[in-house]
Amino acid sequence: MLRRTMAEFDINAGLQHVLKQIELTLQKRSKEIIAPKPLLVAVSKTKPAECIIEAYNAGQRHFGENYVQELVEKSQHPDILSKCPEIKWHLIGHLQSNKINKVLKLPNLHMIQTVDSEKLANSLDAAWSKVQPTPSEPLRVLVQINTSEEDAKSGVDASTAPSLYQHIRTNLKNLQAVGIMTIGAYGFDYSNGPNPDFISLMKVHSSICQANNLPAESVMVSMGMSNDYDRAIEMGSTIVRVGTAIFGYRAAKA
Ligand SMILES: *Cc1c(COP(=O)(O)O)cnc(C)c1O
Repeated sequence: MLRRTMAEFDINAGLQHVLKQIELTLQKRSKEIIAPKPLLVAVSKTKPAECIIEAYNAGQRHFGENYVQELVEKSQHPDILSKCPEIKWHLIGHLQSNKINKVLKLPNLHMIQTVDSEKLANSLDAAWSKVQPTPSEPLRVLVQINTSEEDAKSGVDASTAPSLYQHIRTNLKNLQAVGIMTIGAYGFDYSNGPNPDFISLMKVHSSICQANNLPAESVMVSMGMSNDYDRAIEMGSTIVRVGTAIFGYRAAKA
């Protein structure tokens, strides 16, 4: 069986390939889509600090983790702290209320992509007011939407997302709503046409822009992973979360 182990996987080559694909996809994207160049978040879950440092040295700055415990360990790892001073961490997994304080204290925390309830937003707002750096800077958040309506997935319903977005914008001064995010159903077969999760998220994007009178390019859209980040960009994604295509296969979580 042909399987590359982590040590053999060329992270720099993986990263350059993804960056090139993003560029190529942007060039052929419909000009009707008004959106900035997508931000690449390298998803480093299950990968050790050396892999993150390797990607950082190849120019990558934004990294995402979906387990709080891994984010806690990696963001405070002495080698990462010393060798990756400009690293920017994104939490892309579910955040339980009892972990908020742990997460908000972490160095180089850039964005929480998974705000999925008013209660969580309120708690984050209160917690950030106590730990935010001076001069004060709001905490960037995305509202996570469960576009595939699977019970096992986190996220608010597409229909309630605009009101949660508005709540954050108007009532929570310590948070900055910068966009929306979906994970979507796994393994969508593209021979069936465009991904319905992406269509659904783009609809929410329009509603939010209209309801809040915001230009399209000011609300970020986080959708697309290794197997479909190009399709997501074609539809208007401005944040892609890519793991496997940069770091190689992950061992199944034990
Ligand atoms: C693991 C993960 C990704 C990246 O998945 P790949 O298929 O390895 O690119 C993106 N987003 C979330 C929320 C994830 O948990």
